[in-house]
Amino acid sequence: MLNTEFQKIPASYLFSDIAKKVSEYQKAHPDKQVLRLGIGDVTLPLAPAVVAALHDAVEEQAQSATFAGYGPEQGYAFLREAIAEGEYEAIGVSLDSDEVFIGDGAKSDTGNIQELFAADAKVAVADPVYPVYIDSNAMAGRLGDYEGNRWTNLVYLPCNEGNGYKPPFPTEPVDLIYLCYPNNPTGTTLTRDELGGWVQYARDNGAVILFDAAYRAFITDDSIPRSIYEIEGAEEVAIEFGSFSKTAGFTGLRCSWTVVPKALVIDGVSVNAMWNRRQATKFNGTPYIVQKAAAAIYSPEGQVQVQEAVDYYLRNAALIREALLGAGIEAVGGDNSPYVWFKCPGGMDSWAFFDFLLNNAQVVGTPGVGFGPAGEGQFRLSAFGSFETTQEAVARLTGLLPQLSA
Ligand code: PLP
Repeated sequence: MLNTEFQKIPASYLFSDIAKKVSEYQKAHPDKQVLRLGIGDVTLPLAPAVVAALHDAVEEQAQSATFAGYGPEQGYAFLREAIAEGEYEAIGVSLDSDEVFIGDGAKSDTGNIQELFAADAKVAVADPVYPVYIDSNAMAGRLGDYEGNRWTNLVYLPCNEGNGYKPPFPTEPVDLIYLCYPNNPTGTTLTRDELGGWVQYARDNGAVILFDAAYRAFITDDSIPRSIYEIEGAEEVAIEFGSFSKTAGFTGLRCSWTVVPKALVIDGVSVNAMWNRRQATKFNGTPYIVQKAAAAIYSPEGQVQVQEAVDYYLRNAALIREALLGAGIEAVGGDNSPYVWFKCPGGMDSWAFFDFLLNNAQVVGTPGVGFGPAGEGQFRLSAFGSFETTQEAVARLTGLLPQLSA
């Protein structure tokens, strides 16, 4: 007997459809140079401090005196401590290192966390959204049926131009709320007051917030919270996810962390102890050499190098954002985030604008509708390309826009 919930999940053709359209276009127009601002992967290589740590760790693996086999399932203490200090103490949040669990990516961590909650827990997500939150709950059978373009038992919190692309509170009781800030795909952030409102909401309504902070390194404005635990009382209602993927180019290496505070106790049960049990049962740890590499970003030179890469992408993001705003398009994101999001000009739907951009400017972006029904008519551009590609793409885009508003 199969888990039939899998069959209900619509196949995601977003990135394959994009690739198909681009390859068909290139075949028909071999002389045209296509520029990609659609990717969510990073393009800069690893920082020298990270590469040096990798080499050292490989050498350790070559000697019996320093060889490391199975490590602690929760992660090595050196990395748990480095994260507690470098990511949390540094912003005034005090955590015990045994509240930090090392993982192999925020995709797996955000996908796996739902296992700790009841089969009939009611889930709320912002719409548009990073699809893993939805699909992992669909696999667990929590979302009802997929009808039209939505799940019957999922609470969608629509983010649109009217609410500044920030999710409204649910209007029905929910148990789990996924929040992601800085947001993928909209690039928006929440102010301290806004995030405080969500923590209060969770406290008042007995909900748990699953806070994905994969893009926190892109926050430059100190008034924007980098962690949900900057909000008082969040440690009793929130789990937080962090990733080295976008911060330090670990999309290929794979390393992440999950904070499960010991103060998060539901019906007398420690959620920290549950996650510890879950990881110890199903996970055998992120590779030693990768954890060594991750710890290297907290060295003084590592910090400088990693910040340089983040600044590089932020310069791209600013370029895209300012060009769109300059052209009269109400773009959001791109200031404390690597994504810029906007309503397609001329009232086009997401795919019509995708085709228009590809055919007329040879620029590839991501149709917003691929991230959920509220993304229809919206578009995402990513800052993870090279500066030169971004510059050229932005020039082509701005050259084209007057034609649309006319
Ligand atoms: N969370 C969000 C919001 C993302 O956009 C991504 C990747 O694009 C991830 C998590 C996954 O990150 P990781 O590479 O750590 O699995």
